[in-house]
Amino acid sequence: MSRHDVIIIGGGAAGLSTAASLLSRRRSLDIVIVEPAPKHYYQPGWTLVGGGVFKPQETEREMKDLIPSGARWKKAAVTEFFPERNAIALDNGEELSYEALVVAPGLKLNWAGIAGLEDALGRNGVTSNYRYDLAPYTWELVQTVSSGRALFTQPPMPIKCAGAPQKAMYLSCDAWLKRGVLEDIDVEFHNAGGVLFGVQTYVPALMDYVEKYGIDLCFFDNLISVDGDRKVAAFERKRDDKIEIIERGFDMIHVCPPQTAPDFIARSPLANEAGWVDVDQHTMTHNKYANIFGLGDAASTPNAKTAAAARKQAPIVAVNTLQHLDGKDPRAMYDGYGSCPLTVERGKIVLAEFGYGGTLLPSFPSWLLDGTKATGSAWFLKERMLPPIYWKGMLKGKEWMVKPKLIDQPL
Ligand code: FAD
Repeated sequence: MSRHDVIIIGGGAAGLSTAASLLSRRRSLDIVIVEPAPKHYYQPGWTLVGGGVFKPQETEREMKDLIPSGARWKKAAVTEFFPERNAIALDNGEELSYEALVVAPGLKLNWAGIAGLEDALGRNGVTSNYRYDLAPYTWELVQTVSSGRALFTQPPMPIKCAGAPQKAMYLSCDAWLKRGVLEDIDVEFHNAGGVLFGVQTYVPALMDYVEKYGIDLCFFDNLISVDGDRKVAAFERKRDDKIEIIERGFDMIHVCPPQTAPDFIARSPLANEAGWVDVDQHTMTHNKYANIFGLGDAASTPNAKTAAAARKQAPIVAVNTLQHLDGKDPRAMYDGYGSCPLTVERGKIVLAEFGYGGTLLPSFPSWLLDGTKATGSAWFLKERMLPPIYWKGMLKGKEWMVKPKLIDQPL
């Protein structure tokens, strides 16, 4: 069994950034990234693919080209954890052992959790920006639907990028408005939760667009099945103490699937009760195993599950992993930062940036970019700045972007 300084599980936004951040601090580290997928995706770009702004190919890169130099790629999936003896098992039968383990396998999109959905996707007007191959179909539908009913759904929290279901809706409505067909389309937002967005500060700006587009907000409606042939979706509707099943016919439905921790995490000794990697919300250190760290969508921390959060978490995990390797206590602290650029129309964004407890954490002074309002500057950031920041900064461990807060500094 080979032993390594650091093993990182997952070559996604969080895993690659952590590898790069570690190597930028200590070049000599022996790091292995365990990742089964041949491609890496810039998922935040899929909203703009569904809105006809980006080509899907712009969001896809070969994994081999993104593994930071100095790290080695083990092309396999992790199946099991043996934290008592610092080892993991892979699906090819191998075992690896580590001094420190970083767990960042993302989350599971539970398409099968909605009856009929897997079969229905990709035809009969059933789409989702949550899949690379389907986001272009969203744009195709937006261009071809001219009347009838369009449904947009949001499952119970937590989900990655909590704003993505409504981003798809606003961009669709904007395109229909510009084509002069919006008044012939009934748009409904069926949300399993009871609020439009979790941080109230951003809701007024979003409500302006809900009203402008004439969207019917249906809270506490949880999608339970999709019949693509009949073009009918069923929802469990909670009103007061009553639950009823309602059916809605559609010409187009954009589905955000329910989301859980990956199965191999949920059944492992690393999981908390809800199945997520059980880490301290500030140090990102496992609550039971001091040499294990978790970040990204798989972590139990109550931040918004976003690539923006992973960007801030990666240096925290890098610093604290090195502390552990040096026999010291964790000293970097994560403040819960996450960000959600809400694309309310083509060319304008409400840029939600916040940390634990909904504390606003804007990156810019409000005279430059006021995140509580729809602005063109936030759109410019999303369309032009954030992709290169992701590819060339975050995944390369460029530390000018984020300075990790240390334990002796206030959060
Ligand atoms: P991922 O990037 O999903 O990577 C996880 C990796 O782990 C994958 O490569 C996977 O193959 C690998 N893996 C899985 N299982 C195993 C295993 N058993 N062994 C080894 N490896 C494994 N974020 C924003 O900041 N802003 C946005 O505007 C935004 N918009 C979004 C819009 C959409 C439609 C979607 C889908 C997401 C959006 N996000 C956004 C969220 C963002 O993409 C995720 O939060 C981010 O990618 C999480 O990073 P991660 O590394 O935890 O997971």
